[in-house]
Amino acid sequence: MTVDEGIKYLQSSGAKITETRVAIMRSLEDRCDHPSAEQLFIELKPKHPTLSIATVYSTTQLLAKASLLRILSIDEKKVYFDPNLEPHGHFLCKSCKRVFDVPVDFDAVFEFDAPSCISSVDTADVFYYGLCVKCDTRRRTTSKG
Ligand SMILES: [Zn+2]
Ligand SMILES: [Zn+2]
Repeated sequence: MTVDEGIKYLQSSGAKITETRVAIMRSLEDRCDHPSAEQLFIELKPKHPTLSIATVYSTTQLLAKASLLRILSIDEKKVYFDPNLEPHGHFLCKSCKRVFDVPVDFDAVFEFDAPSCISSVDTADVFYYGLCVKCDTRRRTTSKG
């Protein structure tokens, strides 16, 4: 997603282009760390005092509707955003709750013996859970002593 694409879509859908909405899009553009709604809010709030968490949710939902942004439901308590629309999977560290990209062969993912109740499949999400290197190292060093 680029900021220009986002602004164009918001304009065409009749949504207002506000300073805070542009700030959200600018912050998401070309990002690969999958920030959560709370994280975006905390980052942008000091420079944009009028920003509300509701604006973060409504703006990202609009962008997701336009397929300019992916909303990852990898965690039941948190929503993560991904401006990278190329097909890929995700890994959530259970300890620090950071999300990383994982290369996934989606041709293989879509190839399975579908039960008779499934007629067609158009999207798939691949989520992995575990510990990142940083958290695993910390766990090992603290459990040793
Ligand atoms: Zn971690
Ligand atoms: Zn991603």
